[in-house]
Formats: sequence, structure tokens, C-alpha cells
Amino acid sequence: MTRSLQGIGMTSLRTRERMIKRLSEQGIHNKKILEIMRDTPRHIFMDEALASRAYEDTALPIGYNQTISQPYIVAKMTELLLGSSGHLGKVLEIGTGCGYQTAILAQLVDHVYSIERILPLQKKAQDHLWDLKLKNISYLYSDGNLGWPDYAPFDGILASAAAVEIPLQLLQQLAVGGIMVIPIGQNGQQALQRVTRKTSGYDIEQLEAVTFVPFLSGKE
Ligand code: SAH
Repeated sequence: MTRSLQGIGMTSLRTRERMIKRLSEQGIHNKKILEIMRDTPRHIFMDEALASRAYEDTALPIGYNQTISQPYIVAKMTELLLGSSGHLGKVLEIGTGCGYQTAILAQLVDHVYSIERILPLQKKAQDHLWDLKLKNISYLYSDGNLGWPDYAPFDGILASAAAVEIPLQLLQQLAVGGIMVIPIGQNGQQALQRVTRKTSGYDIEQLEAVTFVPFLSGKE
């Protein structure tokens, strides 16, 4: 076990329990998500200097101009993705980042396919997820605009960067009955959207306002 998996002081179980209480007060109802977030050490995904702030309800820097999403947003997007089904098969994640959202998803669905355009971030995430013994994850260093055609269609797609509009290839790679959760917008005006693929066409729901880093093109 690495130094950081243990958790001390501000990274203890008690601190995580406080985070869970806050999340349920903020309207997260899915018990399984709350339990998994209670039991998943969030601080190991961050630099040591920030580990003591890991359970605050705030986005924090993870390097390369990127941020780890705040716990509420991780919980909310996961809840929207699971919908009423409570369980999903294959899920595509765009923006591995530090890997925390990936860790939560991997404990709820059969397999996570995670794409990131900044290779060192993805490598570090991969190490942390391995430390947590989460092995139902495949990683791709690529531009998420392209999705991952080899494994399509996906029962769920979750993007943690804000796109100007929903990338066409992601719409095409969503299974019929599948759900995509993605922040859409720019210049500080973003909202979460939930897209459900129907037998013909898509249902798009506009949900709460959010703040994400931009969904970029190409690889770094
Ligand atoms: N869920 C992550 C969020 C990280 S921030 C976490 O909690 O750590 C968003 C991530 O999306 C960044 O790592 C960024 O590099 C990545 N990203 C942005 N545009 C992308 C694209 N087109 N393809 C793949 N990843 C992208």
C-alpha cells in the first residue's frame, strides 16, 4: 500500500463521512453512490500539498491547467448517468484527469473506457486507480471528440470538460436507451445536459449551471 492510501487527519473516514452528509443535504439520493464516495480515498488523486483539502466541496488544481471536479459535481453527474437503471454496462468517460471520477464510475458499472488528451495526467491517474485495485478500466490517450469507436456503442457517456456543442461522434456512439451527461457552453455560461438516445432521435434535458474547464481538440 502506498503512503497515501492510509489517510490521516483531514483525510480520515470521519472527514469523508462529513462530505457524504453534505452531499445528501445537497440533494444526492443514490445510496450506492454515497457509499462508494465515502469509501473511496479522494486525497490520493491529488498532490500531497492539497491532500488535506481533498474533501472540501471545491474544484482543486491537478496540474496542466486542469482541475479535479468538486465532490458534488462528481456525485450529481454520476447520479444523472445511472438514471433509474442503477446499473450500466459500458461507460465512456471523456477527461480522465486525475482519475477520481473514473474511480467512482468503475465501482458502479461493468467497464469504464476513459479518454484523456494530456498523457502525463492519464498515466498518473492510471497508477492511482491501479493502487485502488480498480481493473475494469481501459485507457486511451486521444481526443475525446472522436469517442472510442472500437468499443461503441456505450450505455453511458460522461464528459468532464465543457463542449461548445455535443460532439457528433459521441452522439453516434451512444447506444439506444443510453444516457450521456455533458456540460455544454462557454465563457462562463455552461449547463449540464442529459442526452437520452431514443429509437429515433435524442431527448436533451438542460439541467443546472456548472463551471468546467473547456473540452479541447487534439492531443497535448
Ligand atoms: N474528472 C476529472 C476532470 C478533470 S478536468 C477529474 O475529476 O480529475 C477535465 C479533463 O478533461 C482534463 O484532464 C482535460 O485534459 C480533459 N479534456 C479536455 N478536452 C478533452 C478532449 N477533447 N479529450 C480528452 N480529454 C479532454
